[in-house]
Amino acid sequence: MSLALPPTSAVTVRAPAKVNLELRVGPVRDDGFHALSTVYMAVGLHDEVTVTPADEWSVEVTGAQADLVPTDASNLALRAARSVADELGLDEAVQVRIRKDIPVAGGMAGGSADAAATLLACDGLWSAGLGRDELGELAARLGSDVPFCLAGGIAMGSGRGEQLAPVLAASGRYHWVFALADAGLSTPAVYAECDRLREGQDVPDAVPSPAMMAALRSGDAEALGAALNNDLQPAAFSLQPGLSDVVEAGLEFGALGGLVSGSGPTVAFLTGSAEGALDLAVSLTASGVAGDVRRATGPVAGAHVVPGEHVG
Ligand code: ATP
Repeated sequence: MSLALPPTSAVTVRAPAKVNLELRVGPVRDDGFHALSTVYMAVGLHDEVTVTPADEWSVEVTGAQADLVPTDASNLALRAARSVADELGLDEAVQVRIRKDIPVAGGMAGGSADAAATLLACDGLWSAGLGRDELGELAARLGSDVPFCLAGGIAMGSGRGEQLAPVLAASGRYHWVFALADAGLSTPAVYAECDRLREGQDVPDAVPSPAMMAALRSGDAEALGAALNNDLQPAAFSLQPGLSDVVEAGLEFGALGGLVSGSGPTVAFLTGSAEGALDLAVSLTASGVAGDVRRATGPVAGAHVVPGEHVG
């Protein structure tokens, strides 16, 4: 007797936010992108994406900032789902449901996390078995940060950030505090401001810093805090002048290091322990210098299927 398995009816995948421990911005390439050298760490703020077979393509977003996310064809998760269907030559549609916890337009790769989660979810839904390499290629076409949101952990990114390489890092857990801003910053606007501020300067090639590599090898949070760096920070400060006060306040309150995350405006602070992170979060909130404050640890895994949600 053979048992026919019912078709898979929904797959849920969680994907993490990222913080750039280092973001070095080199010259503009012929294709208009900047050549980057970056070090990513995946941190424990997650979006959750569920894909379900449907007659028409659609996306639904829930969460505190849901109204800031487009639900038309420009939604990165929807584009990711379509790219998997195209790759497989499938004439199928899905409904994409996003439970959003990653700040929107915060420099933490929220849209990219949704795209990464959706790639993996569709791969599961359609039993495509695409594998990490093929999914990584689809991811790179969708956006510079999408491959890292699939991979997670700690990784170096070159090219426009999409070419990942492993980093020699001591095992261990880092404790972060994130100060969120009320208004987002557009990534292209921050790069444009960076170009404006550098006008007339000779921009060197983007290369990893020895201090960052040494800090990660040692696993020493104090050394990592001192090595944090972001070439986009002056541009983010220029567009949102209040951000430099946030960084300063966090450092005065005892953070081991602090910087604008990616293109901002989220400010990331590294602390030495869970208690240190709680103290800093309380101080930042009480001072009123930051809006919402969140805590998370890292590194965490990349996009992964939520067990029990893969209904089959
Ligand atoms: P990054 O750090 O990768 O530069 P970000 O974290 O600053 O990105 P996102 O949250 O990815 O910014 O959002 C950038 C813009 O992308 C939003 O303003 C929104 O209009 C658009 N967007 C498209 N799809 C999504 C999605 N699924 N989630 C969030 N934003 C999306």
